[in-house]
Formats: sequence, structure tokens, C-alpha cells
Amino acid sequence: MNFARPADGRPALLSLDEAKTLFHEFGHALHGMLSAVVWPSLAGTAVARDFVELPSQLFEHWLTTPQVLAAHARRQDTGESMPAALIDKLKAAQTFDSGFATVEFAASALVDMAFHRQTDPPADVVAFEKSTLDGLGMPASIAMRHRTPHFAHAFAGEGYSAGYYSYMWSEVLDADAFAAFGEANDHFDVETAGRLARYIYSAGDSASPEELYTAFRGRLPEPGAMMEKRGLI
Ligand SMILES: [Zn+2]
Repeated sequence: MNFARPADGRPALLSLDEAKTLFHEFGHALHGMLSAVVWPSLAGTAVARDFVELPSQLFEHWLTTPQVLAAHARRQDTGESMPAALIDKLKAAQTFDSGFATVEFAASALVDMAFHRQTDPPADVVAFEKSTLDGLGMPASIAMRHRTPHFAHAFAGEGYSAGYYSYMWSEVLDADAFAAFGEANDHFDVETAGRLARYIYSAGDSASPEELYTAFRGRLPEPGAMMEKRGLI
């Protein structure tokens, strides 16, 4: 991890965001370390771009479970656990501005798709962007996350062409997958974790993402858990 070094004589502390990144990257690491696929080209993280973010984004969810916070989110000077009132405030803040963030992201993802559906490049990029946003009923008070002229991410190469949506799609997967533990009433349910290890963390690209996800979850992903995580329902 490339966390900031502490000042001389001070302990190295992580913000909640940094701890989240640690859990995210550790999820990618587990996807590699638990791989049980023989062929390297199909093993570990060698999976589709949206599916590869499932093991990482999913792992972030355990950071704020009561058990993990009680064990690890402790004051470095006294060893005291994080007070329940602070945990409640943290959780309440997680959906702050989420409607705004959802609209600014979705606008960029939909405009990205609209551009890539054109067989002839629009002569006036800004006018095309405006007419697409008008068609979507984009609120005037919210700007796109990425305006087209600087959106190199979606226009620089094959990788993310018409693929900006995949960040939100990965979130559909991670929220829906974590909800399986909610349904089991245990964030550490052994049976659910066993299926997760077998069909997701160790399976690489040995079968299609649809098959693997269905084997883990018993069905394809649904967006409800993501909407709930974002505080939108
Ligand atoms: Zn990632």
C-alpha cells in the first residue's frame, strides 16, 4: 500500500478511507492467493473487468462489521474500541450526497455509451453531449462526473470504451453478494463463505461469471442491495 508515512516519532494511522482501500486491495490479493485454477490465463484475477472488482469491493464490506471494528478500530494510545455512537455516525455519513454522486456518475456512463453507439463520430461533441443529457432529463443543478472533452478514460483505448458503467455494475455485484451474508444473519456465516471461496475467490475464469455467480448466490445479481447501500431505497 502507498500510505503516507507518519511524522517522526508518530504512529502510522489509517483513515477509514485508507482502511477501505487496504480491504479492497486485499480482496484482489485473496482472488489471486486462493486461486485453484491450473491455467494461469484463466486463474485468479484473469477475469472480466467488471467481475474482477467483485472480490475486492465485496471484501470492503467486512471493514465496518461490528466484529472487525471491535477488534481493529482501536485507539492507538489507550486500546479503547470505537464508541457505538461514532460507529453510528460513520454509517449515517456513508450515504451522504449519494443521490448527487449517483446522478453525476450515471450521466457520464450513459453519455459514454451514447458516444460509442454512434457509427459516425458526432461533428460537435459538446452539442451531442448536451442533447444526450437533455434526453435523459439531466437535472441542471448536477454536472457530469466527467465532461466529454476530458473523459480520456472512456476514449483513450479499448479497455474502458463504453465501459465506465462497469464501476457501478461491480457495485451491484458486491452489494448483492454481501446481502447473502445478511440473509444468513451472520457476516461470517461458514456455509455462505464456503460457497464464496469455492465459486468466486478460487474459481478465476474457469467458468462464465454468470455461472459462477449463480452457483454462489443461487441466482443472478439484482440491483436492490446496491440501491439500499446507497441509501436510495
Ligand atoms: Zn480494484
